[in-house]
Order: sequence, then C-alpha cells, then structure tokens
Amino acid sequence: MEHIVIVGGGLAAHQSARSLLQARPDARVSMVSAEHHRPYDRPHLSKGFLAGDDVEPQLLAGADIHAHARLKLLHGRRAEAIDRTAARIRLDNGEALGYDRLILATGSRVRQLPADQVRAPVHYLRTFDEALAIRAKLVEGAAVVIVGGGFIGLEVAAAARQRGCRVTVIEPRQHLLARTGSAALSQWIEALHRAHGVDIQLGTQVLNIGQADGGKARVDTSAGAILADIVIVGIGVQPNVELAAGCGLSVDDGILVDVACTTSDPGIFAAGEVTRYPVAHLGVTTRSESWSAASDQGCVAGRAAAGETDATYSEMPWLWSDQYHSSVQCIGLTHLACTYSFIGEPGSAQWLALGWSGQSQLVCAIAANRGRDLSAIRRALKRNEALPDVYLSTIASAVANPF
Ligand SMILES: Cc1cc2nc3c(=O)[nH]c(=O)nc-3n(C[C@H](O)[C@H](O)[C@H](O)COP(=O)(O)OP(=O)(O)OC[C@H]3O[C@@H](n4cnc5c(N)ncnc54)[C@H](O)[C@@H]3O)c2cc1C
Repeated sequence: MEHIVIVGGGLAAHQSARSLLQARPDARVSMVSAEHHRPYDRPHLSKGFLAGDDVEPQLLAGADIHAHARLKLLHGRRAEAIDRTAARIRLDNGEALGYDRLILATGSRVRQLPADQVRAPVHYLRTFDEALAIRAKLVEGAAVVIVGGGFIGLEVAAAARQRGCRVTVIEPRQHLLARTGSAALSQWIEALHRAHGVDIQLGTQVLNIGQADGGKARVDTSAGAILADIVIVGIGVQPNVELAAGCGLSVDDGILVDVACTTSDPGIFAAGEVTRYPVAHLGVTTRSESWSAASDQGCVAGRAAAGETDATYSEMPWLWSDQYHSSVQCIGLTHLACTYSFIGEPGSAQWLALGWSGQSQLVCAIAANRGRDLSAIRRALKRNEALPDVYLSTIASAVANPF
C-alpha cells in the first residue's frame, strides 16, 4: 500500500489529508503535526474566540477524518529533516518515516521583535494556546498595548475593546494595514478604531519593552513610554521553509510550487501559507497568508499527490477580516494597483475599491461591508470571465492611490 506523508497540522494539511483519503482508497496517509490539538480554525482565534468564552479550539470541518483507519496522526511530533534519496523524513524523536509521496504544509511562524528589545513577557498570536493566554489577560480596564497595525493586531484591538480594555496600537509606519497599500482602507480602518476608543500611534517605533512595578510592562517608544498589563505583538509571519530548503527544494520566500502544487521534486508537493505559487492570469507568483488559499491549495495538493493530473490552484489571494461589526475583504495583489475606482464613498460605512494595473487589468479589489460584490468579482476571476459591467464601467473614474 502506497504511503503518503503530510508534514503539518493546520488547514492545508487537513485539506490535503481529506482529499487524499477520498482520491486514493488504496493508500495510507500519515500526518506529522507539531501541534498538540487536532487541526483547528485560526481566524476564529483573533475574533470570536478572544471576544467570547469558548474553551476548546474550533475544529475544522471534516475533523472526523482523524478517526479514519488509513490515517495515522503523529501529534506533537516535528519533522526535522528530509532525505530525498532514501525517501524518508526524520522526526524529532529520532524515528524515520518512509514515504512514497510527501506533502509539505508547514505554514508560517510569527515574526518576533529583536530579542535585545524585549525584557518583559510579550505575547504573539498564532496558536490556540497563545490565544488562551492572551484572553486570560484581556480583563475589563486592563491596559493593552498592541505592537503592529496589521490585520491580526487590529482584530485583537477590536476584541480587547469589546472586553472593556484600554487599547493602544503602535505602528511604525504612517498608516494602519500599510501592507495592503490602500489609502482608502487605511484611513477607513483608522477611523473605525478611533471611533471605538483605540489610541492609535502611527509613525511610532518600539525601542524597548521592560518590566515596571506591579507586574506591568513598560513600552518605551519613539513617542514616549506606555505602561501595559499585556503587550501583544503582531508584526507579521515568516514561512516555515527550513525543511524544504534543507533538502534542496527550490525556495524563495516560500516553497516554490507550480499550479499542481508540485515542488522542484516531482514526488514532493506543498500547500498553504508556506508556498509561493503562480497566479496564472497575472503572470506573477505570490505567497498568500489566507484561509481560502490554504484550504483550496490543500485540496489540490492532496489530489495531485494522489496522482490526479487535472487539479490546479492559481487564484488571486483572498482574505477577510472582521472587526467590531464591520467586515473587510481583499482580493488580489494590491501592490500591482496603479489606480483605484470606487463604488460608494470610501469614508462611508460601505464601499468597494477596484485596483487597476497600468494596463487597465483588475489586479485587486477591497470591500468594506460589501462582501457580496467581492464574491461576484471573485467568481468572475475564478472562471476567467469578464467582470460585470457595473464594475468595469468604474474604470473611467479611476484615480491614483495617494500612498
Ligand atoms: C490569529 C489568526 C487569524 C487569522 N485570520 C484570518 C482571516 O480572518 N482571514 C483569512 O483569510 N486568514 C486568516 N488567517 C490566516 C489563515 O488562518 C492561515 O493562512 C491558514 O490557517 C494557513 O494554514 P496552513 O495550514 O498553511 O498553515 P498553518 O496554519 O501555519 O499550519 C502549519 C502547521 O504545520 C505545523 N508544522 C510546521 N513545521 C512543522 C514540522 N517541521 N513538523 C511538523 N509540523 C510542523 C505547525 O505547527 C502548524 O500546525 C489568520 C491566521 C491567524 C494566526
């Protein structure tokens, strides 16, 4: 019986296992996961979980596969090296695991502040256990300092406000959500958080985080010192590429894969946040930090490893974020947008921005409380169809992004 090994215990690994078990009734599958929990939903951790009172992780749909007779789960186990010549991986307990085919779904880890800046406990948010530890400190009246004004930091800020904490967000750049590169979105999200009482300090550098009296942390910044009951850092992630790089697979800020999720070794596939994959119709590659990419690409990697040749993934990245009672969705590659056209006033409660390349090609769309539009655009892009007229006609009014 062929043995297919998946390294990873997140969404991409889970979806790979599901599609593999379905596509190959004659194969056995092993999943090596450094996590101690069964695969769970990460987006919930920075939203409903922090704001609510769940005590267990929200398991992914189809969690029942983990009782499948042909699936062996190795929890709390880390793959340390891949020997491609012998077709086996070495685990952290010294055991070797042979494979016929291998799927790497090792995801990302949080980027950390430089060690010499941190002399007091700080929190990062990637796992269920980290979310639990953060929530325990989000008590009414607590002073919360969040370092980083990206999606995760702002979702934590919203949850902390909902729990009655006093919240300060420190962002070194002049804009929130700076990585999306959209002035309209940055200004809108800033206004939303200020309206909910968040103190936002833009253009501010963290210099040092030290201990203060009474168990508090003292955050020294370029704009002065802040005392905090809890410091949460959300300054991005880096892909876990070391396993792939260590065995000579092609890596460039992500494991390089083709549309069939195949790495530079035809017997090794990769899926999810750890990959850099081609966005076919734009002729570029990207690494997507989004739930939908991990889910869809995971399915494709599973089918490809099962020997199916018609499964492909080459979509524009798509992600959503819920903050307070608002929802933001982004699709595409915002850094390729030269001009934006709008449906709805960007400062209002609901608007849609369409980002166009220099060649008038739609390269991204951003929706504030207009998820239905984004779904229509996403569907058209997925099917390679022309956009509905209502969107195309806005291009005549496109203006340059002020950033
Ligand atoms: C708090 C939070 C909120 C989010 N919110 C949103 C959102 O609102 N919308 C959205 O679109 N996306 C969101 N995301 C992003 C989305 O959840 C991720 O892109 C997706 O979960 C990535 O899945 P993955 O399986 O590729 O990687 P991961 O979830 O990172 O899983 C990788 C797994 O591999 C394991 N692993 C790594 N190396 C090894 C090894 N050597 N051996 C064994 N196991 C290993 C890790 O422990 C981990 O379990 C959020 C992410 C977080 C953390």
